[in-house]
Amino acid sequence: GIVTGGAKGIGLAICKRFIEEGAKVVIVDIDQSACAKAVEILGSENAMAILADVSSYNSVEEAVRRTIECFGKIEILVNNAGICPLQPFEEISELDWDKVLNINLKGAFLFCKAVLPYMKNQNYGRIINISSVAGKMGGLFVGAHYAASKAGLIALTMCIARQYARFGITANVICPATTLTPMTAEWPAKFLEELQKQIPLGRLAYPEDVAAAAAFLASDDAAFITGEVLDVNGGFLMD
Ligand code: NAD
Repeated sequence: GIVTGGAKGIGLAICKRFIEEGAKVVIVDIDQSACAKAVEILGSENAMAILADVSSYNSVEEAVRRTIECFGKIEILVNNAGICPLQPFEEISELDWDKVLNINLKGAFLFCKAVLPYMKNQNYGRIINISSVAGKMGGLFVGAHYAASKAGLIALTMCIARQYARFGITANVICPATTLTPMTAEWPAKFLEELQKQIPLGRLAYPEDVAAAAAFLASDDAAFITGEVLDVNGGFLMD
């Protein structure tokens, strides 16, 4: 399977878990040194890294071509790459907006577009998109561009789930709340404390919590689940 943004954080935890379940993974990420480290951790017999920006059409097409060359098929696609600027609404410029939407939402669209023809031919595929609780309720500290991109990802997933169900392809979304990763390690401690206080289960998420949900959605146990939005949020939002 392909895991975008798989070099760190949630993506890396998903790679680890998928490998434990017997899969081979292709990491698509822009962070070269993190890619090298990830392949070392995961083992080069299990993981390969492709340096590419998910928001570039040509890079995405090329990454998918190389994956097919190496493995002959793509059974699972996890659109996980994302950025999350903590900008108040009035500070978001047009450029900021475009950048976040291009990576978080267009990136997932491009990967789905590139991978779906292969999944359709196989009559099998699992697409898992990593959205966020912010995509459902705006989030507490994250930018409006981020929340909007994550809401868009939910609708994109539902469209794919509807249109590709008859080809044996499922598409589902995971909405984590704040997760302890390199992304949130840069947030002010007071934000993290504030967020944690609002979580009934009393802690922030670990990347492994999200990886477990992804492994379930990729497994045969989830064969009849599509278009689903799965919360991994410790009870932060119950809807
Ligand atoms: P992270 O920053 O720790 O890791 C993200 C990875 O994506 C990095 O390796 C980065 O290099 C890669 N990446 C960024 N831009 C890219 C691009 N243009 N092309 C290819 N790769 C790119 O983040 P994380 O916390 O692991 O988050 C992973 C996903 O989960 C994101 O989509 C994020 O929005 C979502 N999410 C995170 C949290 C959280 O609290 N950490 C909560 C909800 C949702």
